[in-house]
Amino acid sequence: MHELRIAESIVQSVLEEMARQNLHSIKTIGLRIGALSGVNIDSLRFGFESIVPETALAHARLQVEEVAVQGECRHCGKNFEVNEFIFVCPHCFSTDMAIKTGQELDLVYIEAE
Ligand SMILES: [Zn+2]
Repeated sequence: MHELRIAESIVQSVLEEMARQNLHSIKTIGLRIGALSGVNIDSLRFGFESIVPETALAHARLQVEEVAVQGECRHCGKNFEVNEFIFVCPHCFSTDMAIKTGQELDLVYIEAE
């Protein structure tokens, strides 16, 4: 499962950060996940909860912010939100666009207890 590996890498990053900041217990882990990242958030939560009981993150909660897909049209230069994976500019109907957001898979913050 792809999400389990992602959960493991998040746990690893948080544990390293805890060591760096000399933290002992974490209340919240903030993530930002884009709609195009290919990550299933439910699977990620499940993976996370299956591995944390063995770690210092046993009581940590995942706070996930989902990021919508934003595109910028290379033809007319306007920005717009991409819904349902329809990659067409709603202003001029060009398909020549750049993806601005939606590919995030970021650890944004950790909050100590
Ligand atoms: Zn356009």
